[in-house]
Amino acid sequence: MKVFNTLTRQKEEFVPIEEGKVRMYVCGPTVYNLIHIGNARPMIVFDTFRRFLEYIGYEVHYVSNFTDVDDKIIKKAVQEGVDAGEIASRYIEECKKDMEGMNVLPATVHPLATQEIDGMIEMIASLIEKGYAYAASDGTVYYRTRKFADYGKLSHKNLEDLQAGHREIQVTGDLKEDPFDFVLWKPKKEGEPAWDSPWCQGRPGWHIECSVMSKKYLGETIDIHAGGEDLIFPHHENEIAQSEAASGKVFSHYWMHNGFLNINNQKMSKSLNNFFTVREIAEKYDLQVLRFFMLSAHYRSPLNFSEDLMEAAKNGLERILTAAAQLQRFLGAGKAKDMSDKEQALLQESEQFTQKFIRAMEDDCNTADAIAAVFELVKFINTNVSAQNAKTYLQTLYDRLHELCDVLGIIIEQEEEILDADIEQLIAQRQQARKDKDFARADEIRDELAQKGILLKDTREGVVWQRI
Ligand code: AMP
Ligand code: ZN
Repeated sequence: MKVFNTLTRQKEEFVPIEEGKVRMYVCGPTVYNLIHIGNARPMIVFDTFRRFLEYIGYEVHYVSNFTDVDDKIIKKAVQEGVDAGEIASRYIEECKKDMEGMNVLPATVHPLATQEIDGMIEMIASLIEKGYAYAASDGTVYYRTRKFADYGKLSHKNLEDLQAGHREIQVTGDLKEDPFDFVLWKPKKEGEPAWDSPWCQGRPGWHIECSVMSKKYLGETIDIHAGGEDLIFPHHENEIAQSEAASGKVFSHYWMHNGFLNINNQKMSKSLNNFFTVREIAEKYDLQVLRFFMLSAHYRSPLNFSEDLMEAAKNGLERILTAAAQLQRFLGAGKAKDMSDKEQALLQESEQFTQKFIRAMEDDCNTADAIAAVFELVKFINTNVSAQNAKTYLQTLYDRLHELCDVLGIIIEQEEEILDADIEQLIAQRQQARKDKDFARADEIRDELAQKGILLKDTREGVVWQRI
C-alpha cells in the first residue's frame, strides 16, 4: 500500500512499525461551536482510511483529540457568561452526534487536552532540561525553535521564510529570545481556566497538547499523523520539534494531510464566515450524502462545495442504494438452490470490482477511484440479477457490495418495515414462550421488537404495543 507522505512529498510504500498494527493520530477540532463541513472532511476521509486499514487486516489504534481549552472557547464562555468547561463539553457532545450522523467511527481514544495537563508539564520540563525551551520572566515558556536543526522539514520551509502562524499563542512577544520561538505554556489571565505549573499558573499552548496526547496513547513514534493541510505549519511542524527534541526519536513516519473544502474556491472557515455546519446540511440531506460527496474526490485535492455536487452525490448514492434494495427484495424471494455454472462464473467475474476497489484504496486512499469500482459492481448487479437467481448467488453479491460500502462508511441496509400482522404473531409466540417458562426466548422476542421500534406493554387486559 502506498501513502503520500507530506514529509517527503512522495507516495511511499507503507511499512508499519509493528507488523499488523497501525498507530494513527488525527488532530481533532477545537470545540467552541458546532463543527462545519470543512472540519468534517478530515473526520470522514481519515475514518475511511482507518476502515480500509482494518478491512485489509490491520489492528488500528486510532486517536483523535478534542482541543477543549483555547482562546476561542474562553471567548465564547465569556459571551455566554458560563464556564469554559461547559462550552467545551457541550460542543464535544454535539460533535459526537454529528460524527455518528456521518457514520464516523468513534476513535479508539478521544483524549481531552484538559485531562492531560500533567503530561504536558512533564514534556515541557524535559524540553527545558534539554535546552530546547526556556521560561521567560512572566512565566511564559517558549520553545527555542532555532535549536531544533530539523525545523521546517515537514512544511519544507526555511526558518528565514517563516512567519509565525495565526494559531500561534503569542502573549508577550517581547520576552522571546527569538521571534520564531513559540509558546509551550502561557500565564493565566483573569477569569481563564488555569493549572498550577513550575512556571506559573496557566495553560498549555495548542501544539504541546497533541505531542503529549499522541505520545501517551500511541507511544513516542507512531505510524501516521494526520489532519487538514492548514495544520502542516505551524501546528505539525511544532509538534515534530517538541516531540523529537523530547524523545530523540522520529515522531511519526507518515504525515497525511487532506485538502481544503472550499466554497467559491475559498477555504471554508469560521473566520471567513463562509461555512455550513454539519447540522445545517443535515436539515436538507441525509448525512450519508455529505459523506459520499466528500469521498467522491481524492482526499488531497481541494473540493469545492456546491449544491450541484451535493445533488450529484445524492444521485450516485441513490444508485447504489437502489441496487442494494433490489438485491434484498430478490433475496427475499430467491430460491434456495445450488448455483448454476453461469452464476458461479458471474461471481468470479464480479470479483474484479473488489480487486479494483482495493487497488484504488491502496494507492494513497483514492476513494474517487474506489467509488468508481463500486459503481461498476452496481452496474454488474443491475444487469445480472433477478428473482430467479439462487439465494447464495444473490447473497454473495449483496455481501460484496456491503463490504465495499462498509469501508466507505456507507450504510446500504434498509430498515424493513415490520407489518402489524408480524408483530401480532411475534407477541403470540412470546406469550407461548412465557407459558412454557422459556423466559429467555420471551425476552429475545421483546428485544427483537424493540429493535424494530415496537414497544410492548404488559397490561391486565393483555399485551399492547406501539410504534415508537
Ligand atoms: P480546527 O477546529 O480549526 O482546528 O480544525 C479541525 C480540523 O479540521 C483540522 O484538521 C483542520 O485542518 C480541518 N479543517 C478546518 N477547515 C477545513 C476546510 N475548510 N477543509 C478541510 N479541512 C478543514
Ligand atoms: Zn494537533
